[in-house]
Amino acid sequence: MLNTLRKIVQEVNAAKDLKAALGIIVLRVREAMKSHVCSVYLLDPESNRFVLMATEGLNKRAIGKVSMAPNEGLVGLVGTREEPLNLEDAANHPRYRYFAETGEERYASFLGAPIIHHRRVMGVLVIQQKESRQFDEGEEAFLVTMSAQLAGVIAHAEATGSIRGLGKQGKGIHEAKFAGVPGSPGAAIGTAVVMLPPADLDVVPDKTIADIDAELALFSSALDSVRADLHALSAKLATQLRPEERALFDVYLMMLDDDAIGNEIMRIIRTGQWAQGALRQVVGDHVKRFELMDDAYLRERASDIKDLGRRLLAYLQEARTQTLSYAENTILVSEELTPGMLGEVPEGKLIGLVSVLGSGNSHVAILARAMGIPTVMGAVDLPYSKVDGIQMIVDGYHGEVFTNPSAELCKQYRAVVEEERELAKGLSALSSLPCETLDGLRMPLWVNTGLLADVVRAQERGAEGVGLYRTEVPFMIRDRFPSEKEQLAIYREQLHAFHPLPVTMRTLDIGGDKALPYFPIKEANPFLGWRGIRITLDHPEIFLVQIRAMLKASVGLNNLRILLPMISGLRELEESLHLIHRAWSEVRDEGFDIAMPPVGVMIEVPAAVYQIRELARQVDFISIGSNDLTQYLLAVDRNNPRVADLYDFLHPSVLQALRLVVDGGHAEGKPVGICGEMAGDPAAAVLLLAMGFDSLSMNATNLPKVKWLLRQISKRMATELLEQLMGMDNPQVIHSTLQLALHNLGLGRMINPAATIQA
Ligand code: PEP
Ligand code: MG
Repeated sequence: MLNTLRKIVQEVNAAKDLKAALGIIVLRVREAMKSHVCSVYLLDPESNRFVLMATEGLNKRAIGKVSMAPNEGLVGLVGTREEPLNLEDAANHPRYRYFAETGEERYASFLGAPIIHHRRVMGVLVIQQKESRQFDEGEEAFLVTMSAQLAGVIAHAEATGSIRGLGKQGKGIHEAKFAGVPGSPGAAIGTAVVMLPPADLDVVPDKTIADIDAELALFSSALDSVRADLHALSAKLATQLRPEERALFDVYLMMLDDDAIGNEIMRIIRTGQWAQGALRQVVGDHVKRFELMDDAYLRERASDIKDLGRRLLAYLQEARTQTLSYAENTILVSEELTPGMLGEVPEGKLIGLVSVLGSGNSHVAILARAMGIPTVMGAVDLPYSKVDGIQMIVDGYHGEVFTNPSAELCKQYRAVVEEERELAKGLSALSSLPCETLDGLRMPLWVNTGLLADVVRAQERGAEGVGLYRTEVPFMIRDRFPSEKEQLAIYREQLHAFHPLPVTMRTLDIGGDKALPYFPIKEANPFLGWRGIRITLDHPEIFLVQIRAMLKASVGLNNLRILLPMISGLRELEESLHLIHRAWSEVRDEGFDIAMPPVGVMIEVPAAVYQIRELARQVDFISIGSNDLTQYLLAVDRNNPRVADLYDFLHPSVLQALRLVVDGGHAEGKPVGICGEMAGDPAAAVLLLAMGFDSLSMNATNLPKVKWLLRQISKRMATELLEQLMGMDNPQVIHSTLQLALHNLGLGRMINPAATIQA
């Protein structure tokens, strides 16, 4: 069964559009279940009716014509109950409805399973049998499994159709909305530029070209390069492989011959398809044929063809990257955005970002916020490889992407962009004013840094210190660990730029989703694994070099503070302090005159919350890392878009944990700050102020907004609001009460200028 399922899903995945996909489903499922009929009904959101979209067994002329409302017929019943329905004698069921055009009177038994994607009913998959009999448990389970697997495939094909004008009902191109999660606030209207993962044939889109001769030449040159590579590889392995093993290379070379794959690809290019699209089609056809074979040896050949395809694609992509042109208003779209990709777009052209994977708490989203680029993460249903060159709107406030937006929607979003521009102008006047509430409470606003660009932006916006300098960022953009001397220069630049303001340098926090290319870590659960302080304590040589570099960099400046990430107990803290003291005495022995800098601990692991008093006693300051603390308290992976809606820093448990830490730190006479992203959320900042935090550290982009909002409220009002919210147990109610309270004070505009858009 598993094999049959796998084959069907594979075939459906390779279908060229929704119609073809549905055709394969009904054909293959009928075959596999040996039923007389298999049909798919899809729910048309416009008419709210289940429409017969494909069938094997019923009259095909009924396709697209027969439909039923959710309260009609057996199909409607399966759709509304969201449960399978297994009937021996369908015609006798009170909900049975007869459609003459389908010819279904001949079929007595009925088994239907709902097709549900992300909690949304998309349609119903039905099989029918002539004789009156109950389908057995195994059959029912198979159909349910099949429809669960197909839901994602159908959703994907449907979305692609709406983008490329192959809509369900054959309708033309129309506006489509894709839900993701907010990555970085703001709105952008622009042209999608898709950055594909290197050499991944499956996601190459179709594209028409004007200059066929140039494309043929491009392909020929890729062919030549791969041929040369294969010859070189074969020669290099001559002494290590037996002749029959080396024969594989001859097979590869033969496949590339003009009479074989090479020729087929050229034929498709001549029809006006670009070389990469032609390559995908031809390789895909061959791979499919081989993969469906029952002979294991022949099935293996599919991977040879895939390998050849990847080699050719790599050369074609390389040639394209050199000529890739970016639109003036580029919205960069990728399956998984990486910090490196952001740097590839020429300065001034990048206005929005969309990532299929990752969530608002992924590090690339944090970077996007620091750069002030509207971003949507986790747009899992967006057929991203098909959107290159089309118009798109990114709504980073609500986490939504619109493809082919209507003129009306563009108008509404243009107004939002304009409003943002006006707000930003108004905010720039604030930079020299203090962050002070109406009743005189001063709240120091600090920045989080990592990139060099952050320094200038932070200074322009009037930051009063650096609450978190992510030292791993300069480590990530190198090809080896930086030496003590190199680190010293980097740190000195930071310390000097902000002097005399304090700069909090966090020791290397790698692991989780922050990998160093030259220090790969492979783990099943990286966020629960070897991360942050756990790595550096296991590698004192890395830790000591870093601390020594920090200390030496602070000579004569004395504005350094050291912060320890991922501390989960006293032992880790004590070992870290011991190493810091060792490094300090070493550099003093070397003749550097440096005072011991303040050392702080990050509270980002739940265990640390409950030992706050003991931890606080040993350090000079506390800083809450609410990004990780939320992830670990709620057991929600901060990178996983499937659970992104469960990740919530206003969850009552998170609020209670924050309060425990503030009170615990203060009871030991230590200042408590926060450097997670929630500090830069203007509405959340009101609550943090009320809790008694001593400083808030955030990205430079949001700093003026937070300052503006805190200057409009009083400590008294913030405290009342906090007390009201702390009494609530439902996160959604907490959010809406907070929004409403700020809205009623006339402060809603700053939080979300796109709040009124109805799409
Ligand atoms: C945090 O976890 O809140 C934090 C500031 O650290 P990072 O986002 O770098 O993990
Ligand atoms: Mg963290």
